[in-house]
Amino acid sequence: MRYAAIVIGGGPAGMAAACAVKESEKVLIIEREARLGGILKQCVHDGFGVIRFGEKLSGPEYADRFIDEVYSRKNIDVRTLTFVTDIEKRNGYFVVTTTSGKGIVSYEGENLILANGCRERTARQVNIHGTRPAGLMTAGTAQNLVNLMGIMPAKRCVILGSGDIGLIMARRLTLEGAEVVGVYEAKATPSGLQRNLQQCLYDFGIPVSLKKTVTLVHGRDRVEGVTVSDVDDDMRPISGTEEYIPCDALIVSVGLIPENELAENLGVPIDPRTKGPVVDQYMMTAVDGVYSVGNALHVHDLVDYVSEVAETAGKDVGRRKSRASIEVTQKGFAYLVPQRIDAANVEKETTFYFRASHDTERAKLTVTINGKTAVTKKYSMLKPPEAVRVKLALPVKAGDDVKFVLEDDDDGNV
Ligand SMILES: Cc1cc2nc3c(=O)[nH]c(=O)nc-3n(C[C@H](O)[C@H](O)[C@H](O)COP(=O)(O)OP(=O)(O)OC[C@H]3O[C@@H](n4cnc5c(N)ncnc54)[C@H](O)[C@@H]3O)c2cc1C
Repeated sequence: MRYAAIVIGGGPAGMAAACAVKESEKVLIIEREARLGGILKQCVHDGFGVIRFGEKLSGPEYADRFIDEVYSRKNIDVRTLTFVTDIEKRNGYFVVTTTSGKGIVSYEGENLILANGCRERTARQVNIHGTRPAGLMTAGTAQNLVNLMGIMPAKRCVILGSGDIGLIMARRLTLEGAEVVGVYEAKATPSGLQRNLQQCLYDFGIPVSLKKTVTLVHGRDRVEGVTVSDVDDDMRPISGTEEYIPCDALIVSVGLIPENELAENLGVPIDPRTKGPVVDQYMMTAVDGVYSVGNALHVHDLVDYVSEVAETAGKDVGRRKSRASIEVTQKGFAYLVPQRIDAANVEKETTFYFRASHDTERAKLTVTINGKTAVTKKYSMLKPPEAVRVKLALPVKAGDDVKFVLEDDDDGNV
């Protein structure tokens, strides 16, 4: 049971990576759930695949296109209902230990592709006083209950956080007959994509209140209401602004965090900005042979880019022996990926993904190599929730000093 690559996670990232590996190489996908598809299985709304397929697909439809390909390929083995518990390097191979109905089984791989997604930040990770009764859940849990299990988790709910999943669930619960009292966001600007704000809140008349947060949960066995307060610029609640809202559920949508326990156990350096591994343009981490893709690398807003990035990693398996990774210095971004460039294998263009640190009407991206400007690019209307993808021709050599700077652009021309 030795493979050229073992892919951990059978979501869109894992499937795209596995399908991109050369057909002459053996690949294994390990997935803890019963079916491939990852988070897409519960995303019944449309909007997936516009860039890749030129169609507005639902999550399951998008996933199906890759599932069909995975099962039609002779070089890809799939183990579902199989959970990866440990990975270690032994005799030059990654030994992946799994538990499943078959017991504890280990597989050996020359390369590892970590595609194990992200997890939701929970109510425990946000400071809210009060009880923790039934009815307090993350937006992903509410989505799973409604879309996969057919269970309505609320009749009248409050949503905390304006992340995309919360917005999508505001619409979904409304369509299913619940009353969504409002979405409360502590920041001064919403966290979700503009199109989700429009299609999920504004089109349904659901109010979004900024600079407000839930400070207290009421109820013993079941949520009976929440207290909402204004917050100051440091997101501290302002006393005297409390408002009690009766509801039977508080749905929390306060961010996603790359799932990186396995990567950390392998000694993979993590970027504090993305909370995912530091990678080069082939998505290889600083540990040779370990790739990171999809939401395990950084939280993507579009699945089309998840597939694209994962394919880059899959294609790279077994291709390159010598590498010369250099760290990229970055300034002014919320984050920039990749954070390193393999200077020994630079192609005509290198693709970067970044998020701005704040809303800005005009911004300028400058890339310098050894102090000389190599590229400048201008942008209008950058917003942190909307990741930007840019392809740059960067003639980088080993040992070069590469600097990326994103700054507000004052000259007014875009
Ligand atoms: C609610 C929601 C709405 C979205 N809406 C859109 C949209 O409209 N359009 C769009 O383009 N994108 C959308 N996205 C984004 C897109 O769906 C995600 O970016 C994409 O699904 C991430 O893919 P992934 O493969 O990295 O992660 P996932 O889909 O999370 O897959 C990770 C897989 O790894 C498995 N796994 C984890 N740990 C282990 C382990 N230890 N052992 C075995 N298996 C493991 C998990 O079971 C899971 O199947 C949305 C995302 C969410 C959550």
